[in-house]
Formats: sequence, C-alpha cells, structure tokens
Amino acid sequence: MHIETLSIHGGEKLDENARSVTSPIYPSTIFRHQDTLDNAGHVYTRASNPNRDNLEDLLTELEHGQHAAAFSSGMAATTAVFQSLEPGAHVILPQDVYHGTRVLLTGLMKRWNLHASFVDMTSPEALQEAIKETTRLIWIETPSNPMLHITDIKKVSEIGSDHNIIVCSDNTWASPALQNPLELGADLVMHSSTKYLSGHSDILSGAIISNEDSEIFRNIRSIQQTSGAVPSPFDCWLLQRSIKTLPYRMRGHCENAGKIARFLNDHLKVEQVYYPGLESHSGHAIAKSQMKGFGGMISFRIKGNADEALRVTSSSRIIANATSLGGVESLWEQRIRSEAENSKTPANLIRISVGLEHPDDLIEDIDRALKG
Ligand code: PLP
Repeated sequence: MHIETLSIHGGEKLDENARSVTSPIYPSTIFRHQDTLDNAGHVYTRASNPNRDNLEDLLTELEHGQHAAAFSSGMAATTAVFQSLEPGAHVILPQDVYHGTRVLLTGLMKRWNLHASFVDMTSPEALQEAIKETTRLIWIETPSNPMLHITDIKKVSEIGSDHNIIVCSDNTWASPALQNPLELGADLVMHSSTKYLSGHSDILSGAIISNEDSEIFRNIRSIQQTSGAVPSPFDCWLLQRSIKTLPYRMRGHCENAGKIARFLNDHLKVEQVYYPGLESHSGHAIAKSQMKGFGGMISFRIKGNADEALRVTSSSRIIANATSLGGVESLWEQRIRSEAENSKTPANLIRISVGLEHPDDLIEDIDRALKG
C-alpha cells in the first residue's frame, strides 16, 4: 500500500458494534483478567493499551519495520535507547546532534558510564576512525538539527553492520513520508513525534521502531513498560488522527520550504542558507538519493550579529518567534537561545520551521522582518 493509504488506515481497529469509521479511545488504565492464568491481552495501561497498540502498529507500517514502542516524548524514546546498552559501552553521535541528545549523553548518561564520541557523520572516514572495541551504537540524525547536515544512511549502516554495531537514525526532521532509514539498513528509527507526525504542535511524544525483534528492542520495550514514560491513550489516538494527513502535509512543507530557501538564498541581508534542496548544499546529492523531498526546515545566517538576529525573529507578523518544529504554523527563532551554553551554533543563525501558510505571505513576512 502507498503511504497515503497506510497513513489513513494503518493501525485502525474499528468498533464493529458501533460501526465506527475511526478507532474508539480506551482511557481505562485497567482491564479485567481473562479466565486463563497467562495474563494474555491488556492488563494495565503502563504495560499496554489498545490505543498505544494501534499507534505502534501504524508507526511500524509507516517505517517498514517489525516493532514499535511509543513514548511520552522524543527524549524519553532516546533515553530508552541509550539505557538499553550495558554500562561502559561506547557510542558515536554526530558533532551537531540535537542539543537535547548531546545534553543527555554528556550529563545524565554519564552516570550510566556510557562513553560518547561526537564525530563529523558526513565523513565515513571520521566514523571509521572513531570505532572502538567497545562501540555498541552509532546514532545518526539526518537532516541534522540545526545545521541540516546530511548523513549517508546506507553508508553508515554498512559500516555499523561490518562491525556488528547497532545504527539508530533520528528521523524526526524527515518523517516517514520522506525517508525510511530501516529500508536503507539502519536497525532502529527514533522519532520525536511531537514534530511532523503530530503536525499541530499539540502532542508531546516519541517512538522507536525496530527492523527486528532484536535484543536491543526487547530492552527498549522493557524500559518502556517498566519505567512507564508512555503517551496517554488520548495522545495515542490524537497522534494517529494527525498522521492521516502526514503525506499531504509533508508535500506542502517541502514545497513552501523550497520556495523560501531560494528566496533567502538571493536576499541581500542573508549570509548563507542551509537547505538540502539547494544544489549548492554539500549534502544535496545524498539527500536526493535517500529522501523523497527535502523537508520543511531551513537554517540561515543573516549578515549581522546576535542582536540583529533577535530583532529579525521578533519582528515577524505571521511567523511565531518560538522553538520546536513540524507544525502547520510557521515558527522561527535565533537558534542558539534554545541550546545549551556551550553550543557551537552561530549566534546569527535563524532556524525556520516552514508551515503550511501561503508561501507568498511567508516570504512577505520574512522580507519585511529582514529589512527592519
Ligand atoms: N530529536 C530531534 C531532531 C529534535 O528536533 C527533538 C526536539 O526538538 C528531539 C529529538 C526531542 O524530542 P522531544 O522534544 O519530543 O522530547
């Protein structure tokens, strides 16, 4: 089935008695025991719930995987992946990984005694050099947040498989409508479903999808059910409802972002634009080969300093000066203000999450703000 059909029908369990065309919501935290002693079926919502099952089935289908585990945030999903490794393991991440993931590895997970190396993931040589005897996981993020670096998923997965190392791809910025890392050889996919999967800036959630019933996925499932960082039945249902329009939303995000990136590229007040859809982008060819569209995220550096970037982002009328991404409404921010103190993001860099408003209105808004 095509993604447009899967997004609408995947994971739906209709109520045959009521003849409904969408799934009901099961807010119940408890389910009556069956007469057998094996605790088959749902027992308690921390362990499983019909709505979470439906969402996990849908995510599995969308990412062409075998299993999925839904979490209450993208960071809860990420944490479960790292906690599923044995203490003492070495992990490799991209230099410009999402700042929350960096903070997790350099802070909380240190107590787990995980050793992290941050490398230029666009260079297979740099990745090869960083691999040690104790390396258990390679984390990739493509396009990356906020520099939009493109990692060759197939190449990294080959390197991982040659060394028996698990590869997990953060697919938040692409969404399954544009990119399927498991098809390219990755073992796990992570989503902050707070972003494009939700699409309306009203659900905090995350997920891990696995290509097989592997040891690491069984650990992730056990962390999900034991620690209980799970989305509520209503959030599962709402996310599933939101995903029905994902393929069409992603087309609009890509189309609008392409137009805005080209407009910014020609703007006198702009120093540099980072968007993989531009032929001048160093990752353009790889992005073209592994993505079905270039996404809705753009970063650009203005000609000016941090104060000027702050002035620009606070003078738009349509685009909200706010963090996060993936919603129908456009957002932008001087990115460094949302990152940790030691961030290497340039202070004059503005990150835009291009929404689904008319592109001409967005371009007019950006132009007015840039001109001041
Ligand atoms: N990964 C990426 C690429 C992100 O952009 C984000 C959030 O911005 C996350 C992970 C974390 O997800 P959440 O905010 O849902 O915990």
